[in-house]
Amino acid sequence: MTVKSDIEIAREAKKRPIQEIGAGLGIPSEHLLPYGHDKAKIGQDFINSVQDRPNGKLILVTAINPTPAGEGKTTTTVGLVDGLNKIGKKAAVCIREASLGPCFGMKGGAAGGGYAQVVPMEEMNLHFTGDFHAITAAHNLLSAMIDNHIHWGNELEIDERRVTWRRVMDMNDRALRDIVTSLGGVANGFPRQTGFDITVASEVMAILCLSRDLNDLQKRLGDIIVAYRRDRSPIYCRDIQADGAMTVLLKDAMQPNLVQTLENNPAFVHGGPFANIAHGCNSVIATTTALKLADYVVTEAGFGADLGAEKFMNIKCRKAGIAPDAVVIVATVRAMKMNGGVAKADLGSENVEAVQKGCPNLGRHIANVKSFGVPVVVAINHFITDTDAEVQAVKDYVAKQGSQAIVSRHWELGGEGAVDLAKRVVELAESGWSHFAPLYPDDMPLFQKIETIAKRIYHADEVLADKKIRTQLRDWEEAGYGNLPICMAKTQYSFSTDPNLRGAPTGHSVPIREVRLSAGAGFVVVICGEIMTMPGLPRHPAAEQIHLNDLGQIEGLF
Ligand code: ADP
Ligand code: MG
Repeated sequence: MTVKSDIEIAREAKKRPIQEIGAGLGIPSEHLLPYGHDKAKIGQDFINSVQDRPNGKLILVTAINPTPAGEGKTTTTVGLVDGLNKIGKKAAVCIREASLGPCFGMKGGAAGGGYAQVVPMEEMNLHFTGDFHAITAAHNLLSAMIDNHIHWGNELEIDERRVTWRRVMDMNDRALRDIVTSLGGVANGFPRQTGFDITVASEVMAILCLSRDLNDLQKRLGDIIVAYRRDRSPIYCRDIQADGAMTVLLKDAMQPNLVQTLENNPAFVHGGPFANIAHGCNSVIATTTALKLADYVVTEAGFGADLGAEKFMNIKCRKAGIAPDAVVIVATVRAMKMNGGVAKADLGSENVEAVQKGCPNLGRHIANVKSFGVPVVVAINHFITDTDAEVQAVKDYVAKQGSQAIVSRHWELGGEGAVDLAKRVVELAESGWSHFAPLYPDDMPLFQKIETIAKRIYHADEVLADKKIRTQLRDWEEAGYGNLPICMAKTQYSFSTDPNLRGAPTGHSVPIREVRLSAGAGFVVVICGEIMTMPGLPRHPAAEQIHLNDLGQIEGLF
């Protein structure tokens, strides 16, 4: 059997004009701001006009801890929406935009895969509607204004050694991680050490994704802490007077983008914050707008459920006042095998025992998600190499955990392959079982919030933090930041902070290396282990193979 590549399938898509997709959601064409024929932004006036409508059902797609075998959350999100539409539900996708830089390294696309994709996938993975470029520009405007302020006399008394605001660009470039700026003489300002992060790691990205509207956006931008004085008092973006101009640069980027699935169902693709130092889900404005326009909104959270779903619930849902009606946990036979100790090269041969051995990782994610008070279904994202006995082993295991695992073949068959999953999701969402509650209250002390996540979600025994970190947390509480939620940044590969510890480890400790305050986004970032905010390219980056063919089509992207 020959398998077509994602880009070949996407190229054959029979796309409808974006106005037709908008009409399906009841968006009049004058409220769609088209970017070409197959992409559009949704106007703010229209968004304002639907606020009184009731919300549709919200379905979160999350997964087991990722393995190099690949899990397929986005693919399942898209396939489930096509499946829901097949059974007569008006459903929409809500996913993140892709970061351009990693596409030239070694990452796959962000638009799904096989016959469950969002199109136009090449554009979605590259410049799309320019949102990330706008975020890059807004971020760097603030950087330029900080150095400019210092150059012209530094009236705010910024300590040049304590400027925390760096620069960003949407490219993997390790050469820019740590640099010295303003070399070359008096006219170029005061030399200082700084560096670049990738755009998706910008606090501006997290802010755009959590803001309700443009006023909220400007307020949060103003709240960003950019530097400290010698006496350690903070300097805000508002003090630099950059928040107004940054909002102007972000005006269009704030509007959600509408595209379509291969089966012409609506897809909101908007925002894309890192899933480690930020919360890793698409924008609040896209999700809340979609909930007003569709009966079912299926959205994805980055990484495994220990990071992605936890932050979706404790950060995004809390801030946006929304709650999932059901959660889909994606698992694959291959990933269960890898969790059970099989090497990637040996995944091709049947190994029921390894599947069984790997299942406790899935079991813990099921229990964790249920502890938020939401009903769960496991989607076995079917690979054509999976054997019946292996699939049955996962089903049996999940049944013992009091849930149901459903095989879904959307990658191979599109929406038709996800009909069983769609039916189960509808059953759970309509059951009214969901009585969602976040894991911790706003007023719990910051350190206790971290302990709650570590113990309840990671099943760790203890959180290790030296005096400096504990004092820092207490200082922020005194400064009025104690009610913020926690944004954990740890390895996505394990429940623990050790990426090699697969399965469902217990008895481990969670050492905190550093804490950062994202005062504009509104969370405290807790860093456990090495977190890279500017990726590098591999020895042979994908860029070496990417080119235009004789027809002007992109080759080598995926
Ligand atoms: P995630 O969102 O969890 O990172 P994606 O949905 O983006 O994962 O899928 C990652 C890659 O795996 C994609 O290239 C996709 O084509 C591939 N993939 C997903 N599901 C399947 C499947 N059932 N069979 C084969 N390949 C798949
Ligand atoms: Mg994904």
